[in-house]
Amino acid sequence: MKFFADLGNGGTLTIENVDVQTVIAMTTQSAGQQQSQQMSLALGKWSASPTLYKLPGYLILQIDTQRGQAFVRLQSHGISMLTEMPSLMNAQMIPLRNMPIATAPTIPDMEPMKPMEPMKPMEPLRMGDMEMRMEPMEMRMGNMHLRMESSTSSSTPSSAHFCSQCGTQVQESDRFCSNCGHNLKN
Ligand SMILES: [Zn+2]
Repeated sequence: MKFFADLGNGGTLTIENVDVQTVIAMTTQSAGQQQSQQMSLALGKWSASPTLYKLPGYLILQIDTQRGQAFVRLQSHGISMLTEMPSLMNAQMIPLRNMPIATAPTIPDMEPMKPMEPMKPMEPLRMGDMEMRMEPMEMRMGNMHLRMESSTSSSTPSSAHFCSQCGTQVQESDRFCSNCGHNLKN
């Protein structure tokens, strides 16, 4: 069994029961940075679907297993198991779904900005009018053109295709580049 919840602000939660393990994975976004946490707890096999509650500043996950009821507190900086039942007086339930949350327009999965490392010059790299390209990252100073895409798309790491002309990501089935019209089958 696997459940997903939308935590708002780009945050998502995945809860999965693998044998006696409850695997909790939480991703939160703050200031454009993505933080991921994962925890695996040996709580026993689930006897019911988990329940997620929202309280001011944190979330409580209720998991009913063959060994009893467990409560886990989820905060942006940590996941911790509770030893006693929390007060759910003012809690608000967050719906859990058994389908992944569509997180289409998220910020690309980027590492925090690092100082520019020396790199192998790649075509094209011009300093005259400042053009720079590391597929699929792109930067141009002429008329301010900047493009960055997640090059580590976790969902389809091996099937990414890029236009050899302009570096736009294209579908393998595409005949022509949607950006520059380059014939991709040539
Ligand atoms: Zn192109």
